[in-house]
Amino acid sequence: MKAIRIHEIGGPEVLRYEDVAAPEPGPREARVKVEAVGVNYIDIYFRSGQYRGTLPFTPGFEAAGVVEVVGPEVTDVKVGDRVAYSGVMGSYAEFTVVPAGRLLKLPAGIDARVGAAVVLQGLTAHSLAHSTYPLKPGDIALVHAAAGGVGLLLVQIAKMRGARVIGTVSTEEKAALAKEAGADDVILYTKQDFAAEVKRLTGGRGVQVVYDSVGKTTFERSLDCLAMRGYLVLCGQASGPVPPFDPQILNAKGSLFLTRPTIAHYTATREELLQRANDIFGWIASGMLKVRISETFPLKDAPEAHRRLEGRKTTGKLLLIP
Ligand code: NDP
Repeated sequence: MKAIRIHEIGGPEVLRYEDVAAPEPGPREARVKVEAVGVNYIDIYFRSGQYRGTLPFTPGFEAAGVVEVVGPEVTDVKVGDRVAYSGVMGSYAEFTVVPAGRLLKLPAGIDARVGAAVVLQGLTAHSLAHSTYPLKPGDIALVHAAAGGVGLLLVQIAKMRGARVIGTVSTEEKAALAKEAGADDVILYTKQDFAAEVKRLTGGRGVQVVYDSVGKTTFERSLDCLAMRGYLVLCGQASGPVPPFDPQILNAKGSLFLTRPTIAHYTATREELLQRANDIFGWIASGMLKVRISETFPLKDAPEAHRRLEGRKTTGKLLLIP
């Protein structure tokens, strides 16, 4: 089968399109014929060495397709089921092997492309808004990179929870998309001091929560956006990792909370995974949640997809099609 392989850490050029043997499922695993692969920022962390994988490896943590073979102990899915999953490495490939307990059956009406577009980022947005800091009516949330994959979903889900949402984006085009998703206010953080704007928009009070997926370039000013006892949810590092930090600052800036969540710990049991996925699929089916697939690339063009994602050229979701 064809797959993208990484033999060395580096830029997009290290993503090589190669022939490899199709993987065989173990007793509790299923082999999925991949129809669409979700591209996520975490793929860039692994390719560039910010997160460590054991070389060589097939990158990618999200895909959708059809179950082709199941191991003898698998009960959650059967051959022919249409499924999607996230959180298991190796999805940049024509076939992938996944523990059956991670597979989500796609409801009728949700095709493989939407499935591959929404699982990882949708589960993330769901857990951020419902569990990491459970938003309630009256809260004000600041969502950085609000026109990105996670961003557009998080804005919509935060609005469903009754929060007022302020988004940050880099361009006017992205601002329009964040507004369309429901953001009440949008700040161009490449042109404006976003902390000063947040203070202005909130009458000096600040926000209850900042969902900061940008990291290095936004972290310090994100702390300045928070109301007393507010939550800084540092959920990513698209601009680079945040340097070491003195916890005393949390005291000085208003008894703030800081957390660095990963979706793995918010979907650790099958029950929690299904509960979040059912919400997401249900909202898509009822039209409450819109999924924006902005670009699709053939699998072999994974390097170009990475260039665009890390070059801040994308909105919503990118897919690779084997
Ligand atoms: P996005 O589609 O959001 O792309 C990243 C966006 O970050 C860019 O479009 C850009 O938006 C913004 N950005 C700001 N500064 C930079 C920079 N220096 N370089 C590149 N991008 C920058 O990606 P994803 O939706 O895949 O992921 C969003 C974030 O959420 C990532 O940080 C990711 O790691 C995190 N994440 C965390 C998870 C978890 O479990 N904690 C799970 C899934 C995602 P703009 O141009 O508007 O600034």
